[in-house]
Formats: sequence, structure tokens, C-alpha cells
Amino acid sequence: MMFTKLVVRASWVVSVAVVCSSIACSGGSTPGSGAGGKGSLADAMGGAGSGGSAASADLSHAGLGTSGSGVAGSPTTGGAATGGSDGNGGGQAGSGLEPQGGAGGATGGGGSGGLGVRFVGFIGDGPNDDLPATSDFTTTFSECSFEPSKSMPPLPRFNECFARGIVKQMNQALRELIADAPLFHFESFEVVTDPKLAVYHSDPSSDYEAQHLQGNTYRRGNTMTFVMPSTYSGTIAGSAFNAQSLNPDFGMLAIAVPLASVQVFLHEFGHAIGFPHAGNAAGVGTFTYDGCGGVTLAPPACLCEGANYMSSGAFPDTSGCSSCAIATRSTYATPFFGPKYAAIAQCWLTRRLESSPITFLNADCFAIVGSAVATCTEAEPGAVTCACPSGQIFTVDSCTDATQTARNAAAGAACDRIKCPPPPERPGVVCEGLVGAPTIPCTCEDHSQQFYLGKDDCSTLTLANIEHFCPAP
Ligand SMILES: [Zn+2]
Repeated sequence: MMFTKLVVRASWVVSVAVVCSSIACSGGSTPGSGAGGKGSLADAMGGAGSGGSAASADLSHAGLGTSGSGVAGSPTTGGAATGGSDGNGGGQAGSGLEPQGGAGGATGGGGSGGLGVRFVGFIGDGPNDDLPATSDFTTTFSECSFEPSKSMPPLPRFNECFARGIVKQMNQALRELIADAPLFHFESFEVVTDPKLAVYHSDPSSDYEAQHLQGNTYRRGNTMTFVMPSTYSGTIAGSAFNAQSLNPDFGMLAIAVPLASVQVFLHEFGHAIGFPHAGNAAGVGTFTYDGCGGVTLAPPACLCEGANYMSSGAFPDTSGCSSCAIATRSTYATPFFGPKYAAIAQCWLTRRLESSPITFLNADCFAIVGSAVATCTEAEPGAVTCACPSGQIFTVDSCTDATQTARNAAAGAACDRIKCPPPPERPGVVCEGLVGAPTIPCTCEDHSQQFYLGKDDCSTLTLANIEHFCPAP
């Protein structure tokens, strides 16, 4: 079994970073560059993909968004982003909701108690397009009847019974870790026709794809949502922001492609709680979880816990150690990682109702000026309307990634700016941004030094504050 090595990708989605909302902080990355802050997006990949190869569920990993300062998530809860409460109804952007494989969106099964789990599949608009699943689903959930996929026979089509099986695995895996695990229940399975989301592209991701798969469109408060593209291009078949909140305003969400593996669901769910990858010292190194006083995971060199859902295949042969046998991933509670994950899960439990450290803007694409973001909505191809932070409206031709530069320029021309006059002692300090944006970015005479003023607020650009952030020129 081959594993690709860990890849860290810094640039991911359009940034809507709001570095801070007052002059009390400095530094921060430039949105748009997607510079990585704290890691947050983790991915898993499944092997299979073609009929029958039941046993090959390779996993490898990549990805890294940031919630610290760069990407789709903005680290502030008080800033620009529209926050976690989505106002989106179901079925965005030309998508039609339809049940698939019988009984879409049926009952809540276990009643209304517990936390709902939604499964939203994305398919193309061809006559045979549907949501195939790896053949492992039929062996893992042998109680489920199934129909062959039209798009990839003889693989099964993903169905509600498989989804319920995943929820059972979630409950069992959490219960093995912690005594007071919350109970999840199956809430719904929907299939959305949206060719733009039918194929998950780990690299490169389009803004539309990233925004609709990770953002607010399908995320629901109090709910765990799996978004499921039909297939994937590249090596990554899942991803999730780390350590997500699950409160009434915000829900957890993970991308998982059922064609890849059964385990990709539990793997990404684990990331969403906050679990890092399981591996040996050479495979994953030391990881520090920073909640609740911190949990340090420093695996030994000869560790072999491939049965862990969080294994990414990162148990490379190390000299002096015997090789790891291939194992089916089936638990979080392996000897070394289990207690660490339990501590993280326990911490997540105490913090899951806190406001989310990640927020998303609702839009189909973006235009970026400095650190400010204008959100754009594509009503139909060629008709894209964008809103400046001030609320001014302008139009652009397209929402594609290829026209990002043109969109940025259009926003730069259309949106009103605010420029704060520096005190006469420090004329080289420049504070300029867009009206209505959550911050006004400032640069010192040395342009590598930056700080931020609050929204539309030049009053804090005082000599004392400048001296705090900018060394004397
Ligand atoms: Zn992963």
C-alpha cells in the first residue's frame, strides 16, 4: 500500500481574514495570500474508486487551511464575517433536492434527542449521475439492502441505511472514548444536483467549491453535516476544519466522498472534534492541542496503531522497529492515541457550545481589496452582483477563479475607501481600507510592520498607538 506524504497547502480558499477588530493587535497575514495560521483543515483520502477493490483503503493526507489568520475562516467572532448562523435555506444555486435510494430525509430514527447528522450528496446533471459508494459499504453494513450505482456499477449507490450505519459508528467510537459522549442521530440524507460540487478537487479548489463545501451553505446549527461529492480528483477524498463548534448558531461539517472509503467519515468527524492524525514519531511528529490546558501528543518511534480512524498511513518503517501490519481502521481508542483523543473529546464537549473560531461569508465568490472582502453572488452565469463592505453594489462578469484579479480590481474601483490622517510626527504611517470593512489595515514606515484599526474608526490612530506598533523610523 502506498501512501503519499503529508502535504501542507497554504493557499486554499479566498481569505476573509479579519485579523483583529481593534488596534489592540498587530501583525496578521494578508488575506488572499492564505498564509497559514493554526492548522485547521485536514484531509483524508481513500483508495479504491473502482469496482471491487474492497480491501484497498489507502489514506493519505494533505491540506491545511487556517483558522488562525488566513483562509475561509475568519478568526474573529466580532468582525466582518457573517458568523456561523447561516440564513441559507436548503438547496442553493440551482440545485434540486431529491431523495435517492429510497427514503430520503426520513424520520429521525432515535427521536428528537441527541444531535442530528445530515448527509448531503452532490451529483452531476447527467442521466446516470448518482452517488456511488465503495463496495466496503455493503460488507461493513451488511444489514443494508442496496442498488447498484448507475454511474459506477456494480458499486452500490450510497443510501440512507449506509448513512445510519455511519451514525452508529460515530456513537460507538465516541462511547469507547468518553463515558459522557453525546448521542448523535441520523437526521437526513439528501442529494443535490450541482455539477460544480459533484467532483471534489483537493487541488486546486475553486472558491465556489470551497465555499459551498466548507462554508455556511450546507452547515446547520446544532448539527453534524457530511457533504459528499460523488467523486474526487486528486488524492484527497475528505477534509474538515479542526476542532469545530456545534452550537445553535454553528454546526460541524466535513467533506467525505463515499466512493473513497467507509472510514473517511469517521476520520473527518474526528478532525472536526479536534483529533490530529495518528502515526508514529516519524509519521506525524508531536502535536499540541491547545484547548483545556493543552494535550500533547508525542508518539513513540515504533508505534503501530493503524486501526485508528485517525491513521493517515503515517506509520512509516523506522529503523529498529518492526513494520506495521496493515489494519482496518475501526476505532479511535487505540492504546496510545485513545487516551489523548479522549482528553480532546472531553475538552470539545466543554467547549462545543462556544462561538465558533471559524466563520464564513455567504457568497459564491469574492473580491478582495487589501484585507477587505466584497461578497459576490452569481444569479446566473454572467450576472454576478457584488457588495462592498459598505453595502455599495457593483457587478462583474464572472465568478470563476480565473477572473479573481479582475474582480479584485472592480472592487477596488467601486468601493468607497477610508484613509486615516496620521499625526504630523509620523506622516509615513498609512492607514487605508474600505468603508464598512471590519478593520482598517495600517502599515508602519517599515512596510513589513502592520497593525489594524477598528471599523471606520480613525480615532485610535494616535501617536501613542503608533509608537506601540511601529518602531521609530
Ligand atoms: Zn486527516
